[in-house]
Amino acid sequence: MASTKVMCNNSNQCENITSVFVNLAHNNFTNMTGENGPDLVSSLLVEFIKGIGRLFYIVKPSESSYENDKDVPNYFYNSWPYFLLFMIIENILLWIERKPTARLNDSITSLAHGLFQQCGKLLFRSSESYLYFYIYNRFRLLDLPWDSPITWYLAAIGVDFCYYWVHRACHEVHILWAQHQVHHSSEDYNLAVGLRQSVLQGWCGFAFYLPLALIIPPSQFVTHQYFNLLYQFWIHTETVKTLGPLEWIFNTPNHHRVHHGSNIYCLDTNYGGVLIIWDRIFGTFAAEREDEEIVYGLVYNQPSFNPLHLQIFYTRYVMEKFQTMNSWKHKLAAIFYGPSWQPGKPRLGLEEDKVKVTKREKFNVKIPLWCNIYLLIHFAVMVYGFHQLASIHLSLSPMTVLTFVIYIIASLTNIGLLFENHKFAPIYEVLRCMILVTAVQRMKFPDIDGSTLIVAEVFFLISGVFWFLKSIRILDITSTTKKE
Ligand SMILES: [Zn+2]
Ligand SMILES: [Zn+2]
Repeated sequence: MASTKVMCNNSNQCENITSVFVNLAHNNFTNMTGENGPDLVSSLLVEFIKGIGRLFYIVKPSESSYENDKDVPNYFYNSWPYFLLFMIIENILLWIERKPTARLNDSITSLAHGLFQQCGKLLFRSSESYLYFYIYNRFRLLDLPWDSPITWYLAAIGVDFCYYWVHRACHEVHILWAQHQVHHSSEDYNLAVGLRQSVLQGWCGFAFYLPLALIIPPSQFVTHQYFNLLYQFWIHTETVKTLGPLEWIFNTPNHHRVHHGSNIYCLDTNYGGVLIIWDRIFGTFAAEREDEEIVYGLVYNQPSFNPLHLQIFYTRYVMEKFQTMNSWKHKLAAIFYGPSWQPGKPRLGLEEDKVKVTKREKFNVKIPLWCNIYLLIHFAVMVYGFHQLASIHLSLSPMTVLTFVIYIIASLTNIGLLFENHKFAPIYEVLRCMILVTAVQRMKFPDIDGSTLIVAEVFFLISGVFWFLKSIRILDITSTTKKE
């Protein structure tokens, strides 16, 4: 069996046992039916099951304890194939139950946010955790063994406890909400929403985890941050109704649906990550009501599929609120008090001032089927591009990584604009396609084979020419309208 350690040069990018999907891609069926075939199949199956288990925090401490934080695999990045698999299964279940399946525009917007966040990680390179490492190295109170199961469980509970307060602060502190609202900006509730995150989410919470640095080794902290985040993926679904006694202890789809609601009873509740006991202890728990349909999304929903806009629009609003205040006390309150705060009101605003959201029509723009297919293909190409960048980014200069990240973000933004049928999106698309054609012609991509590059060049050239012709038509229509 081909060792995955041989395939992966960087343990941060490839876990020591890479996902089964990557293995399948690298091992043809001749190997599988050969002498070592049964061994290979069974070990792939075991890895596949382990990958699934990680999404539910079902992990053996002995298999996920590392001495050095740099040896911790990027469990989140490696789980993307499982995310996609689960999303397919979720939609099959919805289709069988004759319920509405995921909307392409909303789902791709969610996944685009997931890629935004991963792009941010390529740039920040976990720098938000440096203070944690510094405190652990200089001021730790205990030397817990990194390979002890007790350390592992302590870290799991400690990270989840801190997550509760991070998440609560993200809803109760206006400037943190400006980032976290991205996660709540979908009017749908499905697995893709679990990946809808702010680029700066990591920076919103790092200070809340610092007390853990006094006892928890960094490698355990990093590992459990991944597992805590992975667990929160599968709870974003309407296909799981209730899980019986597990509902008492664990955060479940049932509890998290309430958290995503904008109905009055849902606001500021169920902050837990893995355990719901924190909400029960600190008085923020709310049970799902059978007699009231949950309205998902923000209280003031943004009619947009543009991921860049959704990432930044609220920060602009916080700044505007800051500027309109006429004393420093109020200016600071505009930033650090709750989103509903107004001068003369309590820190989190008054209950009676909150907007009573009732069932509303979801933002949607109908575009032709061919355009949906086009956008799906181009989004898949961007995912491939991101994957290539992520696998080599440590060998590239920060400037080169930044350039590629800007291109990916601009591309995802324009995909969103095309979903909205924005009038300038076709012109931006011409530019985007031509930039890629030029890049393929002028730059060297040693990790991508020649034939793939030729296919990419032709594909983007045809796309660019198509949108150019379409743009001209749009300009014609505009000028005709003006003459009339
Ligand atoms: Zn939240
Ligand atoms: Zn959520």
